[in-house]
Amino acid sequence: MSFFAEELSISTNGKTEVIDITDMVIKIIEKHNPMNGILALNLRHTTCAITINEAEPNLMRDIKEKLLNLVPEDKTYYHNRIDTNAHAHLRTVIFGESKVLPIINGKLFLGTWQRILLLESDGPRIRHLMITFVGE
Ligand code: ZN
Repeated sequence: MSFFAEELSISTNGKTEVIDITDMVIKIIEKHNPMNGILALNLRHTTCAITINEAEPNLMRDIKEKLLNLVPEDKTYYHNRIDTNAHAHLRTVIFGESKVLPIINGKLFLGTWQRILLLESDGPRIRHLMITFVGE
């Protein structure tokens, strides 16, 4: 059995931002050279999310607009009685903070257009993504 766990640090630049982190994740995978198994991606945060989709620039703008419209920042939220980022927590509840992906024959098994996208909703910050592999 093979195992590795490595944390990737990602600097975000905007308050709300969609970032393609696929190449950063692949770089870490290639360092460890796994063959077949399961890769878990876990953001160690409550105000940013992760999704798998196409990194076409206009679609990334659409995703950002959807985040802004779906859970607007300027609404009244209970959490904002003690903080200022309820919108970011709620977006993370909807999109989730983790993904599990297969690694097959040494490659991250994504579809042709699939990319790993980080959805920042309370930036700019340094975000920490735990990358864990179990397999052979
Ligand atoms: Zn908060």
